[in-house]
Amino acid sequence: MSVHRDLDWRSVSRARRDEYAGTHRPRVVRVGTVEVGGARPVVIAGPCAVESRAQTLEIARACADAGADLLRGGAWKPRTSPYAFQGLGVEGLEILAEARATTGLPIVTEVLDVRMLAVVEQFADVLQIGSRNMQNYPLLTEAGRTRKPVLLKRGMCATLQEWLCAAEYVVRGGNEDVILCERGIRALGNGEYDRNTLDLNVVPAAIERTWLPVIVDPSHGTGVASMVPRAALAAVAYGAHGLLIEVLAEDGKPEDARCDGDQGVRPSTLRKVVEGIPAVLGAVGAESEVRA
Ligand code: PEP
Ligand code: MN
Repeated sequence: MSVHRDLDWRSVSRARRDEYAGTHRPRVVRVGTVEVGGARPVVIAGPCAVESRAQTLEIARACADAGADLLRGGAWKPRTSPYAFQGLGVEGLEILAEARATTGLPIVTEVLDVRMLAVVEQFADVLQIGSRNMQNYPLLTEAGRTRKPVLLKRGMCATLQEWLCAAEYVVRGGNEDVILCERGIRALGNGEYDRNTLDLNVVPAAIERTWLPVIVDPSHGTGVASMVPRAALAAVAYGAHGLLIEVLAEDGKPEDARCDGDQGVRPSTLRKVVEGIPAVLGAVGAESEVRA
């Protein structure tokens, strides 16, 4: 008897949805004109945290120039230490809205708590639910009532089925626009040479089991800027429907960033990743073969 017998993710199951059963197509989640799960992998990029208007606008413009599809930045940050920079809050949302108006890129930003949902929803085009909140069931339930797409990060210690159950909370609330995001798990390497262990094997596994698009965050998945381009393109080879990449200003110093500086890539590197995607798809096939 399986210890997982109570884990029921019926709404997100590929096998149980006729239009997706037996295929490897995901639902196409539309954000403005951007299609997550559509013809090509999407690139979501931006600073880890909105630190200032100047920093965010500079990075936003650079991400747009480099070919990003969506802009992401945190107005509230879930920090391990309560003394670390926690984000600019509503001011950060206003800066993101200005960056959207300037670049035309829709914005992705994290909602940390049910109490912040209403205000984040007013500004965001996509609501990010972070790794630490993957099992915040009241937040997932409320996100299910919104009509904004939800980018649901995998908990750093979550199994695939626990992650799918989290998605189930959102979808059963009536919001089918859920994007799964693998962001690295706690495993053997953590801290010795990487920040987390990027579990690329979970990408085809999630694609096989559900009809939700699956993206990968190589920034938190490695924690090391020099590893990010390789991990990003490897994720594309694994069939990811998109990437989430943290970016520093071209001449910004990692130590000056108030959050996650060591994993931020330069806009010039982001551009190389974007330009590298077609070759990877050409090598492995535009649609990964999955046992759907
Ligand atoms: C982030 O996206 O900046 C973040 C805090 O990620 P995670 O929830 O995956 O740790
Ligand atoms: Mn970050």
